[in-house]
Amino acid sequence: MFNHKYFLDLTDLQYKKVRLPWKSKLSRFALWSVAAVVLTIIYSWVLNGTFGSPKEKELSQEIENLKLKYSIMGMKIDNALNTLDDLELSDGNRYRPVLDMDSIPVSIRNMGTGGVERYEDLVGYSNSGLMLTYRKKVVEIKNRATIQFESFRAIEEKKNEWKREMEYLPMISPVNIIYRLGDGMKFRDKHPVLGTPQWHHGQDFSTPYGTNVYATGSGKVIEAGWNSGFGNCIVIDHGYGYRSTYGHLSNIKVTTGLNVKRGDLIGLSGNTGTSTGPHLHYQIDLYGQHKNPLYYFNDDLTEDEYFDMIQTLTAQSKFR
Ligand SMILES: [Zn+2]
Repeated sequence: MFNHKYFLDLTDLQYKKVRLPWKSKLSRFALWSVAAVVLTIIYSWVLNGTFGSPKEKELSQEIENLKLKYSIMGMKIDNALNTLDDLELSDGNRYRPVLDMDSIPVSIRNMGTGGVERYEDLVGYSNSGLMLTYRKKVVEIKNRATIQFESFRAIEEKKNEWKREMEYLPMISPVNIIYRLGDGMKFRDKHPVLGTPQWHHGQDFSTPYGTNVYATGSGKVIEAGWNSGFGNCIVIDHGYGYRSTYGHLSNIKVTTGLNVKRGDLIGLSGNTGTSTGPHLHYQIDLYGQHKNPLYYFNDDLTEDEYFDMIQTLTAQSKFR
């Protein structure tokens, strides 16, 4: 609105605008400006006090989002801890017993839940407790996972060692399984040739003369030649305390010192030495003790052959 003031000029009898001096104009302007600023401040103060500023609204929304993210992260952390629980359980109850390994001592496991971490940087915030809990759990996961990782590495090494060992152990039949089993490991009242009572320390296979004889596990040939009782005879040292003996052969295809693999052809069956007819005498010793070879035919039997073997074993079990 125009709010001009007028006065009557008596010299010419006309109304004229009152012209304020510039100082008055300036002071008026200053007065209005101050009033406007004060009003704006009061207005903002009242408005912000009631509803919060846009910036504050943005921040509080951000805080809510962070809280949500924190709780999701918390769930993930707990899931990770549960998974660790399962892994540790399998480690102790499944893998280690199967591989004949000791459990990880509790004192070592507990090192994963302790630690010397400091948390000063988290103290003094409104959510310090929450953050502290999560941080501690993360540290626990890190420590326990490191211990578990080392454990799995040890298990892997042990497994590989066992795998190597399994290649060396005498674990198949030395002749094709179609051949009939002869005398097993038992006490003979009368040796077929010598006629005296004697222990029979191996398993005989009734084979035609010249049947292929195979190494039953990898190893080194330590004997390949004449043996007074077993005639032409081969002995293989498989390591791990195991030796296998193949007697009464007609032909020897290996020499002493040769390394052989499981399944290699090493000789032909025969009737040499103290023998009454063509057959193979097969024997397994573990650290010098005779073992029943039938317990070592592991992976090349059909179901029927397996049950035949079990029957034979049951009949012989008292001599084991
Ligand atoms: Zn025999």
